[in-house]
Amino acid sequence: MVNAMKEGWSTFKSIFIGMSVTIRHFFGPTVTLQYPDERYELPKNSRAKLYVNIDDCIGCNLCARACPVNCIDIETVAATADVDLGKTSTGNPKRFWLTQFDIDMAKCMYCDLCVHPCPTNCIYMVSEYEYSEFDRTNLVFHFSNLKPEMVAEVKEKAEIEAEEKKKQREEMAKKKAEEAKMKKEIEAKKKEHQKPGNDSNAPSKPDNNGGA
Ligand code: SF4
Ligand code: SF4
Repeated sequence: MVNAMKEGWSTFKSIFIGMSVTIRHFFGPTVTLQYPDERYELPKNSRAKLYVNIDDCIGCNLCARACPVNCIDIETVAATADVDLGKTSTGNPKRFWLTQFDIDMAKCMYCDLCVHPCPTNCIYMVSEYEYSEFDRTNLVFHFSNLKPEMVAEVKEKAEIEAEEKKKQREEMAKKKAEEAKMKKEIEAKKKEHQKPGNDSNAPSKPDNNGGA
């Protein structure tokens, strides 16, 4: 009888405590966020995803070199002499085509080290965090805005120009080598000419066979 009363009291107490918690939260302020209809606003300096303003990129590669996990992949092609790529919004001249600018966000550890060395402030973190994927390869973000045909064209032009420059350098080197060789030969001839025993330097003997 006593045990039954004790158990009854314990049950009543448990129900009372549980219900008091429920009633307190029922009338208290709502804290549940109705995602995705509602979202928290992240702080301005939050690191959620990298973004590159490719129009301001000069292809200097500093960001890629700063990355400790090599998740930035940049390929540049030097602009040929007939092309003016203009300047960035910060006034830096653009001298390279960005044929590839990929960031693998699956590898990125959000350290922000790539952001600080950028001379044109064109790579930075943004607050966008909803970009999960089933396939990891979809987390490689491509920022180059050149179409494949354009990439092929600029590469071909750059190769032709590089070949021409190489030929010019070789011709110049050949010309210089020939000039240096000629100079050496002239100097050697001069030295030979100035030697004391050299007959060409001795005064000419009078001719005994001719005359009286
Ligand atoms: S945030 Fe860090 S890990 Fe990610 S790309 Fe930049 S340097 Fe690399
Ligand atoms: S450091 Fe800046 S300008 Fe240089 S390649 Fe990276 S994003 Fe482009």
